[in-house]
Amino acid sequence: MAEPAEFIGKTVDVKGWVRSRRGNKYVQFVALNDGSSVKSLQIVFDLTKFTDDDLRLVTTGASLHVQGTLVESQGKGQTVEIQATELQVYGTADPDTYPLQKKGHSLEFLREKAHLRPRTNYFSSVLRIRHALAYAVHKFFNDKGFCYFHTPLITASDCEGAGAQFQVTTLPLGDLPLGKDGSVDYSKDFFGKMASLTVSGQLEGELGATALGCIYTFGPTFRAENSNTPRHLSEFWMIEPEMAFYEIADNMDLAEEFIKYCISYALEHCKDDIEFLAEYFDKELPERLKFVVENEFVRLPYTEGVRILEDSGRKFEFPVYWGVDLASEHERFLVEEHFKKPVILTDYPKEIKAFYMKLNDDGKTVRAMDVLFPKIGEIIGGSQREDDFGKLKGRMEELGLEGMDWYLDTRRFGSVPHSGFGLGFERLVLFVTGMQNIRDVIPFPRYPKNCEY
Ligand code: ATP
Ligand code: MN
Repeated sequence: MAEPAEFIGKTVDVKGWVRSRRGNKYVQFVALNDGSSVKSLQIVFDLTKFTDDDLRLVTTGASLHVQGTLVESQGKGQTVEIQATELQVYGTADPDTYPLQKKGHSLEFLREKAHLRPRTNYFSSVLRIRHALAYAVHKFFNDKGFCYFHTPLITASDCEGAGAQFQVTTLPLGDLPLGKDGSVDYSKDFFGKMASLTVSGQLEGELGATALGCIYTFGPTFRAENSNTPRHLSEFWMIEPEMAFYEIADNMDLAEEFIKYCISYALEHCKDDIEFLAEYFDKELPERLKFVVENEFVRLPYTEGVRILEDSGRKFEFPVYWGVDLASEHERFLVEEHFKKPVILTDYPKEIKAFYMKLNDDGKTVRAMDVLFPKIGEIIGGSQREDDFGKLKGRMEELGLEGMDWYLDTRRFGSVPHSGFGLGFERLVLFVTGMQNIRDVIPFPRYPKNCEY
């Protein structure tokens, strides 16, 4: 980007939207923003050159084209400003009806105006950081030689979390074709079988990894879980790397390196936006980000984690014992109070983890790894995969999983040790922006009873 100093004294053209306007009877100051930065450009209208009537339509939200001279600013808060010579108003914004009038609307109010909120400083900052993180994700994996592998959004494999899937159908819901036994006849449906939106690209990702070596996916993911929490969306973006020849320790190293890379990238490239969000929402944000980048994540087996929780003397709302699926309060205790660092929890009881995770020699635990973060809880879930054909097939039969022969082929032919993980992109954006609610880090959030735009 060009340095403003190069343009001092020159005539420049700028286009953007009015954020605010103030002034007196001699001069009017307009903050103009084109979306490229949280910092608006100050335009100075000298009222000996412009009349009140010329500026009548210059109100918050209006779009302008201004020509003028770039000069060093005398005022506080900016180094340069434009002394306007020409003004063109593209589109007006009636002050009586434009919803984003005053500064400092609440996030709840802005969520109701989600179609306009990218025009605010908060959301444009969040969205620029989101963009930078998405770019960092691709750059990280590309530089490591990973292949971006596109897994389907519509899928017929219903083995992962069946209850949480959105069904995809073209059958008439008011007049469903029924089979002899009274159940829906899916052979009449669009795909000739039951289909739904993906909850994870992992199983297909494994097909990619066992051919291309290291792959990653980065795409929309859909979960119909009715969890109205500040950490769950019904439609979110997930990044799922899958690596042939990686064991669990390699998987953990990659997850840590990856997350640190993304956060460092944002710290380096989104300084103004992070500073702005820190000032208005979360003073400790920059420190917290640096802390995560500079410190090694703790690696802790589940069994030890449970022992720490049991010995803590803390009265938790949900009881802790070996075998329990840890609740968010337990995870946060380990991360925020006990270690005061991100924790990678490993080797969970097999009963609480997915069927494809590799069984440890103890026969009780699997090579799972969850990365737990301050304020967020689980940000990554991953594992080394079971690569033994017999063990995997046995586990699938135990759990009654059928119709997955294509998946078993990865173990039937040329099976290799391999690992992978899933990072919820919005949870990363949540952490980096310091926002409190995941609905505020995606342009158009989808959650139970809400599907606007
Ligand atoms: P949680 O226990 O928080 O619901 P999970 O165990 O269901 O997470 P995984 O199935 O392991 O999560 O998915 C991998 C990652 O995807 C999670 O670590 C999290 O970052 C993200 N994730 C999962 N569900 C959601 C959701 N509904 N909205 C946003 N991100 C999600
Ligand atoms: Mn979940």
